[in-house]
Amino acid sequence: MTPKKRITRLLILASAVALFAGCESSKEAGGNSPSATSTPGTSAVTSPSANPSGTPGSTSKPTTSPTPNPSSKETGAGKGTDGSEQVAAKPESMTVLVNKQFKLPDSYKPSDLVYPDVNFVFAEKIEKRMMRKEAAGALEKMFAAAKNDGAPLAGVSAYRSHSTQTTLFNRYVQKDGEAAAKKYSAVPGHSEHETGLAIDVSGSTGKCAAEDCFGGTPEAKWLEDHAHEYGFIIRYPKGKESITGYQYEPWHLRYVGTQMAKDIKTKNTTMEEYLNAVPVAK
Ligand SMILES: [Zn+2]
Repeated sequence: MTPKKRITRLLILASAVALFAGCESSKEAGGNSPSATSTPGTSAVTSPSANPSGTPGSTSKPTTSPTPNPSSKETGAGKGTDGSEQVAAKPESMTVLVNKQFKLPDSYKPSDLVYPDVNFVFAEKIEKRMMRKEAAGALEKMFAAAKNDGAPLAGVSAYRSHSTQTTLFNRYVQKDGEAAAKKYSAVPGHSEHETGLAIDVSGSTGKCAAEDCFGGTPEAKWLEDHAHEYGFIIRYPKGKESITGYQYEPWHLRYVGTQMAKDIKTKNTTMEEYLNAVPVAK
């Protein structure tokens, strides 16, 4: 690589970092978000779990579930002595579980990324506008329905490549140290945005994009009531922080298909509980 190319590449990376600070990272990063000041030491998801694994009532298991148990060793999963990290056995599954415990393989890149035909809060045709084909189709239907119902939505940030997440995370580590960075940014491989099945949304004005104030808006309420009809779930619901490992994020939607989405909505549960995976909060 020539020095000139190297500089160009660095510039591209730098701009990517500026662009992709979304979702779990944007809440606390830099401390310039209103929510950052209200929750000092925002890792406050360590309260004793009221819902240990194996919660009664979360017995149904979809056939496509990942294998949140030692059998995933066949994938080369597992790291460290406490078994706290495992690699998803089926990263391409629509119902793949990705959280602080389960990660995607480092080499994984979705093979069917497309640009959903919906409004985003930005105009550029760039990486974070992409989603996997099935999720993108469902998103288009959901956005159209929301608009019809008077709750027009806009995309904020969808797909994020492993390299983008790595760049982003490393930047936070340099700035705040690894322990602090882990509290507000997903470790590379552990962000749902890398699946191509997750998207942060806002109202069509872009106000409260990936911020706490999105909660309580008509658009957020519409999503609570209807997202499941299109195969999406509010992935990090209120009051489930000790299970999902994340604070309430009314803007972060995850596509899981209509069957699982309806089940999760009906049972008022989380993906972790539904899949009988252990709580991941640390
Ligand atoms: Zn998100």
